[in-house]
Amino acid sequence: MGQKIFLSGALVDESEAKVSVFDHGYLYGDGVFEGIRSYGGKVFRFDDHLERLFASARAISLEIPMTAEELKKATYETMEANGVSDGYIRMVVSRGAGDLGLDPRKCTGNATVVIIAASIQLYPEELYRNGLEIVTGATVQSHPEALNPGIKSCNYLNNILAKIEGINAGVQEVLMLNHLGYVAECTGDNIFAVTDGAVMTPPPEAGILRGITRDVVMSICAGDGIECVERNLTRLDLYAADEVFLTGTAAEIIAVVKIDGRTIGGGKPGPVTNRLLEEFRKKTKEG
Ligand code: PMP
Repeated sequence: MGQKIFLSGALVDESEAKVSVFDHGYLYGDGVFEGIRSYGGKVFRFDDHLERLFASARAISLEIPMTAEELKKATYETMEANGVSDGYIRMVVSRGAGDLGLDPRKCTGNATVVIIAASIQLYPEELYRNGLEIVTGATVQSHPEALNPGIKSCNYLNNILAKIEGINAGVQEVLMLNHLGYVAECTGDNIFAVTDGAVMTPPPEAGILRGITRDVVMSICAGDGIECVERNLTRLDLYAADEVFLTGTAAEIIAVVKIDGRTIGGGKPGPVTNRLLEEFRKKTKEG
């Protein structure tokens, strides 16, 4: 017996957790998803994740056949069925089975809802102590008037193209610029720079996913009297910064110590990054 997966209304064994090859999620990446963490049995920022899921679904005219409360209940049931307390939860809502055309109206049944509760795969602890090396990808983030990166859609191929560049370069994350050449985000994380004690991160208009961890970091800054501004950043701003760090549900907060071969600041995680990580981890314990 494998793990239990929530699939459109029921918990089934993973060997039975199958989706139609006619599901437009499979055929076209037509769907939305969330990556969520639970700490000590409690889902972190659950309302924020669900709000973003419903916003993404609205943006692609996808009706989620469950309420937020029902999704919450199903998530906790899935966690319990798998004995997951500190874990990573993947929630996917795809268009459902249709024909081979693009027309979503042909997907006449309900959207497919999948919830997987897995154990978390973090970057190795030494990367938190030593920091991460990244490179800038040649693949730019999608134009906001194409598939807006603010929509957490199942179509991650653009990010995967950048990720492949990182694999070829032997690094774990890749910086993506936007169509204007400004810094957008990484393939699965938001990016921040710290210069003279002030924290900066690209604005939503730069074409980014508005990360839940990004929001938590911005609110920690506000509460701790650390200046934090959203503004367009160039690669030069990153190269010249005292500190650079990434934020994401899986990674939490992780320092970047090298970008495109340039050492950032002192070449190790800086004091602002470390302080924010400490405060962030406090929040995950508070729930
Ligand atoms: N950008 C992208 C492209 C992502 O996939 C993620 C991970 N969901 C993030 C940023 C970080 O968002 P969050 O903090 O909500 O995990």
